[in-house]
Amino acid sequence: MIPAEFDYVAPESLDDALAALRDGGEDAKLLAGGHSLVPLMKLRLAAPTLLVDLRRVPGLTGIRRNGAVRVGAMTPHHDVVTGDLGLASMAAATIADQQVRNRGTIGGSLAHGDPASDMPAVLLALEGSVIARGPNGEREIAAADLFLDYLTTSIGEDEIVTEVRLPAPEGWGAGYAKFNRRVEDWAMVAVCAAVKKAPDGSCEDVRVGLTNMGSVPLRAGAVESALRGGALDAGAIASAAEQAAEGTDPPEDLNASSDYKRHLARVLCRRALEEAAAAA
Ligand SMILES: Cc1cc2nc3c(=O)[nH]c(=O)nc-3n(C[C@H](O)[C@H](O)[C@H](O)COP(=O)(O)OP(=O)(O)OC[C@H]3O[C@@H](n4cnc5c(N)ncnc54)[C@H](O)[C@@H]3O)c2cc1C
Repeated sequence: MIPAEFDYVAPESLDDALAALRDGGEDAKLLAGGHSLVPLMKLRLAAPTLLVDLRRVPGLTGIRRNGAVRVGAMTPHHDVVTGDLGLASMAAATIADQQVRNRGTIGGSLAHGDPASDMPAVLLALEGSVIARGPNGEREIAAADLFLDYLTTSIGEDEIVTEVRLPAPEGWGAGYAKFNRRVEDWAMVAVCAAVKKAPDGSCEDVRVGLTNMGSVPLRAGAVESALRGGALDAGAIASAAEQAAEGTDPPEDLNASSDYKRHLARVLCRRALEEAAAAA
């Protein structure tokens, strides 16, 4: 439980943080809330030689609204919970306990790329993006291009995520259903849903994201296709939710077999869609 020896810096500007990351080479790591990285270091599953702490870099926290919602990468989960961000707030409220939500950050969670974490599937379902600053400037990475494999994202080793962009949730209803054994555990499976109703009450548009149903967060495309443009009543939702596990290959783990996860996906999908439809 004692990490390997490492150096530590806490730069006071983004440019200094980028320089420290570059100078530290491939064994340098950014430190945000530390709630994923430090446990890995204690277990010696990660052994960075340099930690570049982002907490003194100005401008990386807070929520701004102009068109899209812009959330600073170092914004703690707690601020996302209280920030009135629809689906993102609902999902963040289920992350672990208050202590973790006070320290863990939205940028750290997305950069970590754990398919069992709550925010990756939410970003994917909302078709959001992250802004990454690197030595060659800034780029926007769409959620669909962000998550490559288990704990692997397309964020470069020399890049820092500065901002998370979420399309404005106005006019959409949201639902979040998560199944875990203890309230502070990661999801065995979770499903997030966003629904937009047409004036006649039918489904104008719908997005469904799946957590822990594969090595990356997933969209439940078959469910979305079944509902989009059609009825949004209990029967239509139940029938569409039966397709929630289509095309997924969830790995078995200590908590659940693959078949049980598929069952959970179907049940949770129905619940999340019912909640979203009622709120739309
Ligand atoms: C007991 C416990 C229970 C938890 N339960 C849940 C849960 O139910 N659901 C859930 O979603 N999460 C859960 N978490 C994880 C928590 O949400 C973490 O806060 C989150 O996964 C990582 O955020 P962090 O800010 O702590 O990142 P860190 O641990 O500091 O960093 C994680 C990784 O991201 C990189 N990184 C961090 N910031 C940036 C950046 N700005 N740009 C580029 N790379 C960056 C780091 O280098 C590191 O590789 C739990 C954690 C604990 C300790």
